Order: sequence, then structure tokens, then C-alpha cells
Amino acid sequence: MIQLAELIQTQPDPNQSSQELAIVAIIDTALCVGAGGSSGSLADKPILRNAEGRLVIPASQLKGRLRHECEKIARALSWPVCESPVAQRMCPQRAGLNGGFEQAAYDVGDRKPDGSPRYHCIICQLFGNPALPSRVLFDDLICTEAPENIPEVLRPGVTLNRRRRTAEENKLYFLETSPANAKLRFEGKLHIQPPGQSRFNTYQAKALLLAGLRHIHALGGGKSTGLGWLQWEFPDSTQLNLDGWDWNSLLGGRP
Ligand SMILES: [Zn+2]
Repeated sequence: MIQLAELIQTQPDPNQSSQELAIVAIIDTALCVGAGGSSGSLADKPILRNAEGRLVIPASQLKGRLRHECEKIARALSWPVCESPVAQRMCPQRAGLNGGFEQAAYDVGDRKPDGSPRYHCIICQLFGNPALPSRVLFDDLICTEAPENIPEVLRPGVTLNRRRRTAEENKLYFLETSPANAKLRFEGKLHIQPPGQSRFNTYQAKALLLAGLRHIHALGGGKSTGLGWLQWEFPDSTQLNLDGWDWNSLLGGRP
């Protein structure tokens, strides 16, 4: 006979285990995520593609942008946050930064040789620092449209001399972008690892990541010239109830 109590006991708490967060970026305008090397394109700065020729938004770029947005949110919620990307000013060193980091929510079980805790802020717990691996692993976002359906678009530009406020001679260049207004979909996943000894659980991690993603309105180069504007879809995230996002209990009753 199946005992309900036993079933419940054998189910791991999803907020203490790993979870995936599927994300889709829908590019409203042309996207320009450049690669340095040549890829058989005529452009000086060709767009990034994977081995199958599909357009790609690299994981590293998304991670950098998302860390920045999550830092802003955490600061707005008056959480102490270290100063990336300079290693000396990041956790656990935090040269020149004071106050607030030595709290239970920032204890991830990392210990100094004398046994005292080495604290890591909420952003370092998610995105990592030189002493702590990132808890969130990022996929590249890959375009769902087959490469043969996407025409190569070259966008001419010219280097400006800011001092003379004129165009430089012989400095015409070509950027490759995705076609404008094609509503291209780029899909990928964020993989959130279990909290381990941190009290910052998977649900809270997901909520902060989703909030940060909603603040990213554009990716890639040329945002001021209207490139790379996007919308997000989160296909399998049932609407997170942010009311349940109990920061105070996480902070151990800190005001
Ligand atoms: Zn930190």
C-alpha cells in the first residue's frame, strides 16, 4: 500500500535541488553580436554562429549582462554586494568595501584555515568569483531559424573622429547583423545548481535571475543605433509568485 507520508518524504524539496530555467530571447530589431575572426563573410565584423551555422548569443555575454542587472536589483533591496569585475574588490577579499557582508545568508560553508567563515555575497553565490564557482551555468542562446532562411545583412558604418566631429577618411566598415524585424527566436537554458550549505534556495535564485532578465532590453553591439532590442519569453517557468520571495527570512530577520 502506498503511504502518502512516505511518498512525501522521498520527494526531494525542489528548492533544495537543481533546476533549469528555459529562456527565449525574441530579437525585435537586427542583432549584432560580433565575432572577431573571419567566417567567410564579406563583413568586417561578422555575426557569431555555431558549428551548424546557426546564429548565437554567447553565454558569456548573457552572463555578464545578467550579473550586472542582478547586482543593481540586489543593491536596490539594500543587500551588500561586492564590486565585480575587479578580483580584489570581489568576495571574499572585498578590499576597501565595508559592512554588512558578515551575515548568515552570505555563509556558504566556505571556511578560512582557522575555521571562521569566508562570506560570499548573493551575487557571487549565483555568478561566482575567483574563489567560488558559479551556481548558475549558462547555455549559448541559439537561433531556432535554419541558417539558409536567414539572409546575410551588411550594415555600412563609418568611424567618426570625435574631436573633429567628422567622418574619418577611408574608414568605411561593414557590420553583419541579423535581418531587421525578423522576430528571430534564440533559445537556451540556465542551469541552477542546488544551494549546498547556502540558505539562498533555488526558488529565490530563480526569482532574482528572472527579475534581472526582465531588465535586459537589448543585447549585442550598436544598441544606441537600434540594434539588438529584444523581448523575453520564459516557456516553462510557471509564473513565480514573488510574494513568496521571503528575503527577510533569508536574511535571518535583518531589517
Ligand atoms: Zn560578492
